[in-house]
Amino acid sequence: MANRVYNFSAGPAMLPEPVLQKAAEEMLDFQGSGMSVNEISHRSKLFEQVIRTAEQDLKELLRIPGNYRVLFLQGGASQQFAAVPMNLMRHKKAAHIITGQWAKKAAQEAALYGEVANIADSSDKTFSYIPDCSDLDIPEDADYVYICENNTIYGTKFHTLPNTKGHDLVADVSSCFLSEPVDVSKYAVMYGGVQKNIGPAGLVISIIREDLITDDVLPGTPTMLKWKTQADNDSLYNTPNCWSIYICGLVFGWLKEMGGLSEMKRRNEEKAAILYDYLDNSKLFRGTVRKEDRSLMNVPFVTDSDELNDLFVKEAASEGLVSLKGHRTVGGMRASIYNAMPKEGVEKLVTFMEDFEKKHA
Ligand SMILES: *Cc1c(COP(=O)(O)O)cnc(C)c1O
Repeated sequence: MANRVYNFSAGPAMLPEPVLQKAAEEMLDFQGSGMSVNEISHRSKLFEQVIRTAEQDLKELLRIPGNYRVLFLQGGASQQFAAVPMNLMRHKKAAHIITGQWAKKAAQEAALYGEVANIADSSDKTFSYIPDCSDLDIPEDADYVYICENNTIYGTKFHTLPNTKGHDLVADVSSCFLSEPVDVSKYAVMYGGVQKNIGPAGLVISIIREDLITDDVLPGTPTMLKWKTQADNDSLYNTPNCWSIYICGLVFGWLKEMGGLSEMKRRNEEKAAILYDYLDNSKLFRGTVRKEDRSLMNVPFVTDSDELNDLFVKEAASEGLVSLKGHRTVGGMRASIYNAMPKEGVEKLVTFMEDFEKKHA
């Protein structure tokens, strides 16, 4: 047996063990081909089946309506920061809600292509909450409203989508992708880098309402970044990230086997409650996010001492609880507890925190 740890990294993050085992089994001979999935042509029947099954399973899991396209793209979520304005900025104006570093980066990228209206912002309290988005001042001619739905670094989540007043909503869902059921029809575009909750880095999945996939893009948009190019070629315009698509497909299969996204939501709520309940009662540790805005996926917490924070991260690692250091811009700790983190991992973390608290309180 491999000596596995509980990996609390924000991404690349833990993958389901059965998925890794299956990939290991199939590594040398993928479905009787005598080749690894890393060696077969992306134009082969075998790979065609891999990508189409992955797409179908994703559509099923998220109940994606028929008027949406699923694109498997490269360049990570960060590449979509540019692709979104290039494909959508017909009036050269976007309305952004700034709830953290990733939201900020997306707004900065969009500003290269047009005007960006900052319509709400939670930087005044180090992004520890989600602003009230029920009645925002959105420019009439804005092409879309943009959010980062789950803020990986700060551990906040939009539990209610903003009132976009009829504008299209674009959401970066990298760190909450497939963590619970969502109503896809409320989004014009949702996209996420898969390395947070789904698969290996280097792949971004964009789910785009069909009417937004057109030739009417900003002048100079690279062929590869034009969604229409990718849609017309069923995500096979050039050689895709075959490996990541294959692993994502296995993860989709795993999610279906586990009972789909409602069951994931139940498990994720259960896991997060174990950790948050402890944090709310601890005298040493405390969560850093306003309660009603807490993420189920990323849980930042601190003690009042930098030395204790460092010691905690170090001692936890020696117990097989790894990657608990907070983001470099925030400090403290962060436990990312995505779909693949078993409940036992969170229980073990909390037990360790209790022991640590007894020693240091
Ligand atoms: C990690 C992350 C990104 C960046 O993803 P890349 O694939 O590395 O570009 C963007 N947005 C969010 C919310 C993230 O968590």
